[in-house]
Amino acid sequence: MEYQKFLSIPIFAVFFLMGFVYYITFFIFTEDWLGLQSSAGSLNIIIFTFLASLCLFSFIVGVLTDPGHVPSSYLPDVEDCSSVSDQEPNKNGVQSKYCDKCAAYKPPRAHHCRVCRRCILRMDHHCLWINNCVGYWNYKAFFNLILYATMGSIHSTVIVISCSCQKDWNYSGTTPLKIFYLACGVMMLALSATLGTLLGWHIYLITRNMTTIEYYEGIRAAWLANKSGLSYRHPFDLSVYKNITLVLGPNILRWLWPTSISHLKDGVSFPTSRDSSS
Ligand SMILES: [Zn+2]
Ligand SMILES: [Zn+2]
Repeated sequence: MEYQKFLSIPIFAVFFLMGFVYYITFFIFTEDWLGLQSSAGSLNIIIFTFLASLCLFSFIVGVLTDPGHVPSSYLPDVEDCSSVSDQEPNKNGVQSKYCDKCAAYKPPRAHHCRVCRRCILRMDHHCLWINNCVGYWNYKAFFNLILYATMGSIHSTVIVISCSCQKDWNYSGTTPLKIFYLACGVMMLALSATLGTLLGWHIYLITRNMTTIEYYEGIRAAWLANKSGLSYRHPFDLSVYKNITLVLGPNILRWLWPTSISHLKDGVSFPTSRDSSS
């Protein structure tokens, strides 16, 4: 059963962290800062609960969605076959390779994951925290997860710091309470910075229609091209807007919903910049 994927320590850790942040933001800091009965307090709780629910939903979708396996019937295009043996890019700059471990051809952008023990379509990376590969079918859920986690984390940080700043520490609070407030502030700042960096990284990758693996492959390819006096361009980088719509979908409103993936095709062929220029 797919639900067995939840039986992993990192997944329990994520659930625990989500629950802990939600609890302290709701019952300790919002209560202490604004009061849960006030309209400002209620508004903050509604917004924070909304972000937390979207984060939880994206997380579950990311864990349960199959990132994409190579169809058993997959064979490279005839024009790709010349590149299969020598693993050189074909005329579109796209590689098709043979996976020795799966004993099958793998489409462009697919990679073999040692943890999942199979090839994953448009593989980005294997993510410990969702106990799943991030690939063609669940990349959007993964992106939505880090988007909502960053937004919720920043909102929580603002509440924790606002609460701590308005407190008159000369008259209220024992030392353990002060340490607790300080620890929560530091933890939320660190969490927001970490998630914000990850979000910024994936926004950069999406605008260039790149995966994490392709980014590192691109550095090597650019270095090799440079040595031969050539320039390297990532073959799937079309234009910023086109790149975003290929990953998140054509409708801006649907960019924010993790299961809205009807724009995805088969995950074995991808338009390249040379297709559009020819
Ligand atoms: Zn493989
Ligand atoms: Zn994997």
